[in-house]
Amino acid sequence: MTPRATASTPARVRADACPGALQTHPAADGALARVRVPGGALSSAQLRVLADAARALGDGALELTSRGNLQLRGLRPGSEAALGDRLAAAGLLPSATHERVRNILASTLSGRAGGRLDVRPWVTAFDEELCADPALAGLPGRFLATFDDGRGDVAGLEGDVGLLALAPDTVALLLAGADSGLRTAPAGAVELALAATRAFLDIRAQDGDSAWRLAEIPGGITRVVARLPQGRNGHFCPVEVPRAPVTGPAGAIPQDDGRTALVAVVPLGRLTADQADLLAGTATDLQLTPWRSVVLPDLADPDAAAEMATSAGLVLDPDSSWLRVTACAGRPGCAKSLADVRADAAAAVTAGTLPADGVRQHWAGCERRCGRPRGEVVDVVATGLGYRVGAVPS
Ligand code: SF4
Repeated sequence: MTPRATASTPARVRADACPGALQTHPAADGALARVRVPGGALSSAQLRVLADAARALGDGALELTSRGNLQLRGLRPGSEAALGDRLAAAGLLPSATHERVRNILASTLSGRAGGRLDVRPWVTAFDEELCADPALAGLPGRFLATFDDGRGDVAGLEGDVGLLALAPDTVALLLAGADSGLRTAPAGAVELALAATRAFLDIRAQDGDSAWRLAEIPGGITRVVARLPQGRNGHFCPVEVPRAPVTGPAGAIPQDDGRTALVAVVPLGRLTADQADLLAGTATDLQLTPWRSVVLPDLADPDAAAEMATSAGLVLDPDSSWLRVTACAGRPGCAKSLADVRADAAAAVTAGTLPADGVRQHWAGCERRCGRPRGEVVDVVATGLGYRVGAVPS
């Protein structure tokens, strides 16, 4: 077993403050609400509700996050209840007590194109069981489950608990991003992931409720495995967990059923309400990805959808610079920011003047570099006198 995460992180001294849809975060431009979208699965009706809410209550846009969730910014004071009512009516808030812990990533296009099996039923079953168990409301807001259908796109995103299909009839349990050694048939996969989730919570309570992630608990993987009824098999050949790709897919993807899915990348993850309405008018069921894109599946006429998406400012070219540029909130959303980094990054992409020869880069308004992606990435950090490109001084 070769866990990528270390167990040397200092104990947390406070509870995590991850925002939710009801427990909003007070940002400089108003309250910020994060709406969990398990597996990124969203109906067109739900997307319209979110777009309407962004217009009526927020700043008119939706932010896509690296966990395939959505955020509304600039919410008017006291609008949390109205937002909660809208989300609940649309089925986006099945549990007020569990809303912050429904962090589930699923393979993009699972069940439609590629993959060894369809993980969408796992997402539904895991989410329902999670919300039905009062104890699991105590999970940290940083908790993450990853369900990978074998294509290797989300298994490497360091979930606390993960499922990785090794074959159509064999699933590996991942813990803190590493192979636990436990195997199950697909029918038992959700039950095993839930058992591991409960074991994490028990160990966390035993240790004083300080850890936000399983990787922060010394010996966490071994301790979780020891609590699972399945135990460790005598003979076990660990698999190397695939590293997550740096960028996700973009453009037209042929589906197994002959139809086409279109993956539209949202520049800097900011989807305007008007763009959201256009997407909602194109497909019935959509999927948000961790790479800040939206999948429009099951299209019989992808050309018309592609024209709509590109004319609305969304990106279908897998070689576009937009796929290599991320940015923190910056001004006006963050009081710490020394620049409007999103506007500056967008201007550089449009003008073709990205620094560092346009390699993968993250723009930030201060040294904290919030939202910095994993892997090799060049920092472009505001200093108050322009931007510093390259490593952050220690
Ligand atoms: S990196 Fe700095 S400026 Fe950007 S969101 Fe984080 S704290 Fe704010």
